[in-house]
Amino acid sequence: GRAFLSVRDLYVRFSTEDGIVKAVDGLSFDLERGRTLGIVGESGSGKSVTGLSVLGLHDPTHTETRGEILLDGQEMTGAGEKTLEKLRGNKVAMIFQDSLTALSPYYTIGRQISEPYRKHTGASRKAAWARAVELLGRVGIPQPKLRAHDYPHQFSGGMRQRAMIAMALVCDPELLIADEPTTALDVTVQAQILDLLGDLQQEFGSAIILITHDLGVVANTADELLVMYAGRAVERGTVREVLRAPQHPYTWGLLTSMPRLESDVSEALTPIPGAPPSLLATPTGCPFHPRCGYPAEVGGTRCEDERPLIGPGRGSACHLSAGQKRSVFTEQIKPR
Ligand code: SF4
Ligand code: MG
Repeated sequence: GRAFLSVRDLYVRFSTEDGIVKAVDGLSFDLERGRTLGIVGESGSGKSVTGLSVLGLHDPTHTETRGEILLDGQEMTGAGEKTLEKLRGNKVAMIFQDSLTALSPYYTIGRQISEPYRKHTGASRKAAWARAVELLGRVGIPQPKLRAHDYPHQFSGGMRQRAMIAMALVCDPELLIADEPTTALDVTVQAQILDLLGDLQQEFGSAIILITHDLGVVANTADELLVMYAGRAVERGTVREVLRAPQHPYTWGLLTSMPRLESDVSEALTPIPGAPPSLLATPTGCPFHPRCGYPAEVGGTRCEDERPLIGPGRGSACHLSAGQKRSVFTEQIKPR
């Protein structure tokens, strides 16, 4: 049968004043219950757009979405607003980077967690409030009974992020989409929040999509990894496979520019040269070719002319041979 979440040939295009933005350009992936998929890439790689598409959250007047998004057998693309509204919160919930945009400054934290619960379950006000307090306790808010009466500005950034996680979990979603959930937080709080997500997943058995620009964030949290570039998947595999033997030059770049905690802080990081392409005019062939150091090893103009494909399962979208990928990584990248 089909996976719990099954995305096939997803294309998302926005019409803007400057032209058509190809935000997602042919993306497929699967996710099972109880598993975490990390989607990694620079900003503008299409990872957030992918997350929003699963929730059906694009403005349809400026967006063209093609392809198939099946969530537990329910088609999400083309589903009516009423269906989507029911699925959001209930079946799927989202955690954003910025808790201040997700939480209203005018209502107490307790009310913002209990109201969606009331709406979805028809629970009494009292029962919903009790549920909110319970969830605040679960995400590690001290004195949840008291703090439920606070307004968002009375919470620290880390506590607001926890409250947003409580809000996302209140209706027991089966899929949680977390878009840069820890980016605004300092390193210690970041680690606490990621641990919390892992614990909650154990407890609730939900599937998680963790969207981040930081490979370090997914390294300890995700089971599977999808590396995106210019709206496409460039590498996929289990976290273990991708971190141990990455195959794509873009993934090599992400790895070598990742700060290493154990190393000397003064050690210069190797950033990927150049910038991600404009999605108004994605480069021909392999979209990474203007920034890649290996087209000569592929030979001729193949990298500029021919789009490399990626299959389902472990693999990468790159014309280098399997042997070249292995030897470049082990001889040139790894010894660093
Ligand atoms: Fe680099 Fe060519 Fe591989 Fe693209 S296909 S990543 S340009 S070597
Ligand atoms: Mg984003």
